[in-house]
Amino acid sequence: MKVLKFGGTSVATAENIKRVKEIVANTNADKTIVVVSALGGVTDLLLKCLELASKQELGYEDVLAELENRHMVTVKELIPVKNQSAILGKVKGDLNELQTLLEGSFLIGETTPRLSDKVVSYGELLSSFIITEHFACEGLDVALKDGRELIITDENHGRANVDAKTTYANCKDYFGKVSEKIVVVPGFVASSKNGNHTTLGRGGSDYTAALLAAANNASELQIWTDVSGMYTANPKMVKQAKCVSQISYEEAMELSHFGAKVLYPPTIQPVLSKGIPIRIKNTFAPEDEGTLITKNQNGAGKTVRGISHVGNITLLSLEGPGMVGVPGISKRFFETLSQYGISVVLITQASSEHSICVGISDEDAKMAEQIVNEAFAYEIETKKIKPVKVESNMAIIALVGDNMKSHQGLSGKMFSTLGRNNVNIRAIAQGASERNISAVIDENDVKKALNALHEAFFEENIKQLNLYVMGVGNVGSRFLAQVQQQKSYLKKELKLNLRVIGLSNSRKMVFDESGISLKEWKTVLENGQQANPKEFIETIKKLNFRNSIFVDNTANETVAKSYGEYLSNSVSVVTCNKIACSSDFGLYKELKELAKRYNAPFLFETNVGAGLPIIDTLKHLIASGDKVNKIQAVLSGSLNFVFNNFNDSTTFHNVVKQAKEEGYTEPDPKIDLSGIDVMRKILILARESGYQLDIDDIHNDPFLPEESLKTKTNDAFFESLQKHENHFQKMYEKANTKGCRLKYVARFENGKAAVGLQEIPEGHDFYNLEGSDNVVLFHTDRYTEQPLIIKGAGAGADVTASGIFADIIRIGNF
Ligand code: ADP
Ligand code: ASP
Ligand code: MG
Repeated sequence: MKVLKFGGTSVATAENIKRVKEIVANTNADKTIVVVSALGGVTDLLLKCLELASKQELGYEDVLAELENRHMVTVKELIPVKNQSAILGKVKGDLNELQTLLEGSFLIGETTPRLSDKVVSYGELLSSFIITEHFACEGLDVALKDGRELIITDENHGRANVDAKTTYANCKDYFGKVSEKIVVVPGFVASSKNGNHTTLGRGGSDYTAALLAAANNASELQIWTDVSGMYTANPKMVKQAKCVSQISYEEAMELSHFGAKVLYPPTIQPVLSKGIPIRIKNTFAPEDEGTLITKNQNGAGKTVRGISHVGNITLLSLEGPGMVGVPGISKRFFETLSQYGISVVLITQASSEHSICVGISDEDAKMAEQIVNEAFAYEIETKKIKPVKVESNMAIIALVGDNMKSHQGLSGKMFSTLGRNNVNIRAIAQGASERNISAVIDENDVKKALNALHEAFFEENIKQLNLYVMGVGNVGSRFLAQVQQQKSYLKKELKLNLRVIGLSNSRKMVFDESGISLKEWKTVLENGQQANPKEFIETIKKLNFRNSIFVDNTANETVAKSYGEYLSNSVSVVTCNKIACSSDFGLYKELKELAKRYNAPFLFETNVGAGLPIIDTLKHLIASGDKVNKIQAVLSGSLNFVFNNFNDSTTFHNVVKQAKEEGYTEPDPKIDLSGIDVMRKILILARESGYQLDIDDIHNDPFLPEESLKTKTNDAFFESLQKHENHFQKMYEKANTKGCRLKYVARFENGKAAVGLQEIPEGHDFYNLEGSDNVVLFHTDRYTEQPLIIKGAGAGADVTASGIFADIIRIGNF
């Protein structure tokens, strides 16, 4: 004999029920018991309907009409017309009874747990009836047996406790005699010894099936649902979750206790004691192997088998000096909770005995607060104990596995993974069986935590980086192209999976939780919503993905001002925008501190020398104890390009224009030509070397005529360059006659910085600097004779984009 249970989604529609029929008809067993849930969503509708009626809200009639429609449509689609009327008549009759119950509740404006069980039972009673009739019409040898006549419970309505002995005896009696090959039984419903309707708790059809399997010593219990087995984590929350092909009863029990809804926790006990295997299968992919749940495999397989979570948890903490060394406080605390039927999901106790902390359901929080405070009223009044602390909207997240006990370091890995993702841990518990480690976290962090843990324990170290990119101009678009090109390499070689989740320019923005297609980003963005930086950040916060990185490819001041908010939400920042690091020293310092506090790197390698590894090198020098004494540098790729191409056969204006067009200058070229850009860069290098400096401390000797400096627009600026061509020609000639070349140089020495145009003689380190190259000379305690030199292309969209890319990979390896 086999017992097959089909859940709500599996029987939600006529089409699905037809699939169920195929599965049942193809089952290889002498006898088959088919346990069914209510049509998907019907239990919730019944509860809602009763709630509305009991609040005397007429809306309950609409819900009732919806319920009627669902069932009638299903009958009409499943049953041939000639057989329909009797079946529709019976369904209608049941719905009329239901209506009478609801009217009663509406009239007195009240409901009771007993009435609720009566009402909610109609879901399974109707579905089992319709399904049996469909099986019969399809020629199967089938009988329907009311679960209430088999399963006997106490009167704990809503989640009744089963009297196994009577239940098993009833089953023996009935199944010993029944002649039909297939028996359909409604799940979830039962009755008390006194004949009252009871139910087995939400998700309880699994339990009905397990009881019937155990009572009949079935060869297998099959749970048919909407996923292909028990996964390493809830597949609806963690996309990368994988199906576990085999798992022990204990592991399955632990996972379901901590929220893996695929199996209702009490289901395992009855079949475990008889050694009946459970197979979880997918109604919508019956060929998938599914999960087999059996006895412990003794050391086979991985240490951590799954991760699950339970939501809607409230933490109750009782603490106070009066608890130390006083026996019986915990006993009283737990007795009080149990007296009122409040079940405790998790317990932790500080070793100092100073406090006890338990996790209960959010629903029970109010009542728990009241009764605990009453029970300890005397101690609270005499200040021995503080009023109980109640923190709601929490969740428990648990790692589960039989072999976890023999492995060290798992909890360390768990907590450091959560910590790195800035998931705050409120309480920790380790099951005495050492089969689970669980932590209480904020409900909002659940998805992030599940995914981060899944990545750490199951994904062969593939780390997902979630990017939010602002600015898709020269640099931004090259960056996206590079990400697209390198995606598979990074995944294979560096185990980094890069996804662009959000994208924005100044006009439009777009989000896609599963990653924006980088082939079509232009069209996707064009069709996006109106850009709104505030909403951009709010969406990122709401998505709350692990390893989130904000990439700023703009030169915008407002964007630069928003970094603090990103960092304090654990979103790393990578930027080529120099404004944040080169404005007020306080802001620079604050951003660095936020980055540390929230474990969110703040990287800006491209602020100096585009893709050249200047800041990273400097960081390593400082970290290893070196000290920077002097910096000499040509830091403007733009100015270098300009002065390398400028001579007496060109005009200064044309060379600058060309530099701008080829992407070698800032969007506003005056920022380069006035020296501001170089000032910012030397300032950043000085700060990164450990010196406190502000932009006003830097001496700048401008080479532009006063008038050009004062222009307000790009057009006016270019016009003034044209007007002052003579001025520039003279500068060139003066240097040329001395055999010198013009270079825009930055210096930092003895805590002071200066920038300006210099005539560089042949033989000097800077003389042969080509194209848009940059060079930096670090004179340090360790590099005394010869400076440490970094040289190479220091401007251009491609190298800047690759510098941003490098920062992202640094974060990936962090
Ligand atoms: P049914 O109606 O068939 O009883 P449920 O909704 O009760 O189905 O249970 C199946 C659901 O359990 C899946 O759709 C999935 O969202 C959820 N689930 C939670 N954790 C897990 C897990 N570890 N593996 C598989 N499914 C899980
Ligand atoms: N229909 C019930 C519920 O939705 C029982 C079940 O489906 O297992 O909770
Ligand atoms: Mg279920």
